[in-house]
Formats: sequence, structure tokens, C-alpha cells
Amino acid sequence: MSVSVVAPHSKRPAEEDKVFAANRKAQEAAKKVGADQVINSTIGALLEDDGSLSIMQTAMEAFKNLPDAEIAAYAPIAGLPEFLEAAKTAVFRDYRPKGHIRGVATPGGTGGIRHAVWNYMEPGETLLTSDWFWAPYRTIAEEHGRKMTTFTLFDEKKAFNLASFKEKVQELADHQERVLVVLNTPAHNPTGYSLTDEEWQQVLTFLSNVVEHQSKKVILYVDIAYIDFAGDMKTSRGFMKQFENLPQNLLILIGYSMSKAFTFYGLRSGALLCVSSSEEVADEFESTAAFSNRAVWSNGTRGAQRVLAKVYGDPALLEKVEAERAGFSKLMFDRARAFVDEAAEVGLNIFPYRAGFFITIPCENPAKVSEELTKDYLFLLPMAKGLRFAACAVSVEKCRQSARLIKKAIDKV
Ligand code: PLP
Repeated sequence: MSVSVVAPHSKRPAEEDKVFAANRKAQEAAKKVGADQVINSTIGALLEDDGSLSIMQTAMEAFKNLPDAEIAAYAPIAGLPEFLEAAKTAVFRDYRPKGHIRGVATPGGTGGIRHAVWNYMEPGETLLTSDWFWAPYRTIAEEHGRKMTTFTLFDEKKAFNLASFKEKVQELADHQERVLVVLNTPAHNPTGYSLTDEEWQQVLTFLSNVVEHQSKKVILYVDIAYIDFAGDMKTSRGFMKQFENLPQNLLILIGYSMSKAFTFYGLRSGALLCVSSSEEVADEFESTAAFSNRAVWSNGTRGAQRVLAKVYGDPALLEKVEAERAGFSKLMFDRARAFVDEAAEVGLNIFPYRAGFFITIPCENPAKVSEELTKDYLFLLPMAKGLRFAACAVSVEKCRQSARLIKKAIDKV
């Protein structure tokens, strides 16, 4: 008979993370047949063509040049004040909305999602995101005794499915006082989609309507983990101006992460910001999130916070960082372009890609197709209704080859 000591609410299946499992298989294959024969498109990190991690040297140098005490010491619970100011600048740049903006440091974007799920939902309530989603949303919801449901991201024309979005928000609003909606845009993981300014307007008009006419509270969580790879300032941030003058029961939360923007994945740093037309709601956010910081991880990584403050406090350093990042963005874009063009060439159906690390191929039997692809040493992430291809991790040539191999495997299965 099996023995279990864990409390019932924390009984979890012993399963390996799907991304890490697929990556492990790819690495095993590389050992057998050589890395150049293997296409490892599993991991959501920007890699060089040879598979090594791309590292932003400007950021890394700034970190390594910090005095020891700036790395070793605790940061304040809510984050270094200079970091929080820098995070606001990094998030909004020229598109800072008017209103009450507050922030707390979090260990990456993951931490921000945790705080939103805990502080803006009652136990047992359900959050809403799109049917193509980053799997940890569900994990975080479950960890905290909450549920998750989805709307259909694309309609038949592969455009943002506003009708499904509205229907699902309404369904939740009918049963809950608060509705937490998570939108990962721009450069959505896994599809690479970004909402247009017009789609943003439609979303915000609808949500404003829900809070004004139905006395509900809506918390719109904008996950911008990939924002610095989402095109120019206007394309990536123009929509943020629309966060001005929203009703006070429509709270905007923004999850910012240094993981991709500074290739600081393991340094665990980011910020959760709020934008509200009500000072009271913004103050409440700040004290609530700071309390959660103390309770869950105490404080964040001081060295990483200091780097962000330095970068945004020094125009010459910022210019260097942005020049280096522009090189990364170009690399990313060239790879994605190669995949998208080849997909069009061979007739492989993909979702509309705008920017970011991933491209999604909707298909039947994703697990089987993915298994078939391993015969050609192509490793990617099978999802519920398709495949996630991580263009961030694969050379231009391998991107082209992958589109052809995926088409062949789908046709076969
Ligand atoms: N949101 C999305 C959609 C992501 O893909 C990731 C990382 O992969 C994150 C948030 C947060 O990452 P981190 O906690 O490293 O900042």
C-alpha cells in the first residue's frame, strides 16, 4: 500500500515538466547522433546557433561590476525604490498612461502572476486566459486553490476572437464578484500573436462596460514577458496609453520580467505594476503586494534590481543595452521569418505570428506528430491542440528545415 503524508490539497502527480522532459530527450539524442543532426526547439530561451545560451554582455558586465554588498545584501521588501522607478520606465517608455501607478519587485513574471491569483481571487474562483496559454498559469492557479478556464484566442479567420472573449468574461462575471483575466501580449507565448490597438480598444470598452453596468470588479493582468522582442516602441507599447481613465473597478496589472529582456532568467527579477484611476485602489495594491512579498519570498534579487536601476539611470548604458538587444531581436526575427516563409511555401498551417520566441502549429494528435518528428531528431513541445516551435532556440537553416519536417509529419500521422 502506498504511503502519503502530504496534506490533501497539496497532493500532486509526480511528473516531469513537459518542456524540460522534451529538452532532456533532445539532449540525449544530441549525445547519440551529434548536436548538428538534432533540432532542439523545446526551450523558451534565446540560444546561439550552436545551442549555447545567448547572454546580454552589457547587462552581465553591469551585474558583475556591482560592489559585493550590492549583490549580497537584502533588498527592501517591496524592491529598491530606484528599481521600481526604472521598472516603470522600462515598461511604459513613451507610452506611460496617466493615473496612479505603483509597483513591487517580484522574482520574475511568475511572481507577479502568483500575487494576482492570490490577492484578486477568492478560493475556488476561476481565472480566464486564452486557450493557447503558458502552462504555469494553470499550475499557479491550482497551487493556490483557484481554477482556470479559457476563451478561444482565434476565430475562423485567425483574428482575435472578441466574441469568445466577451462570452467567457460574462460567464464568469455572472458568478463571481471579481474576474481576473490574463492576457499575454505582445508576442504571446506560444503563438507569437500581439493584440492590435483596435483589439485593445474593444477589450477595454467591453470590460469597462462589465464593471460599470454590472457592479463587478475586473482585474486585467497583462503579461508582457516578451515585450522587448515585440517590435518598435509604438508597436510594443502604444496600447498602454489606453490604460488611462478607466473605471476604478477595472484594475490593470502588468507583469514585467527581466528574464528575457536582460537574459537574466536565473537571476529571478521582475516587477508587478498596477495602473488605476483610483489612488485608493493603487495604494491598496501596493500594500497588499508588499505583504505578499514578505510572506512568500521576503525580498527579491538585489543585484538584478540594481542593474535595472543603473541601466535606466545612465543613457549611455541604456543605449548599449538596447543596441545589443536589437541584435538579439534581429536574430529572433530572422529565424521566425525563415520558419513562417517556409511554412507558407510548403502549405503548413500556422497561427498568425507577430513577434516573440514561439510559433504555433495547430494540428490533430500533437503528441503523435511530435513523436513522429523525433525520428528526424526534431524536438518541440506538443500542446493540447498543436505544437509549439521555439524559433528562439534554433538557427535560421534549422527553422526552414523544421517547417518542412513538421508538414511531412502532420501529413503522415
Ligand atoms: N509569462 C510567460 C508567457 C512566459 O513565457 C514566462 C517565461 O517563460 C513568464 C511569464 C515568466 O517568466 P519569469 O518568471 O522567468 O519572468
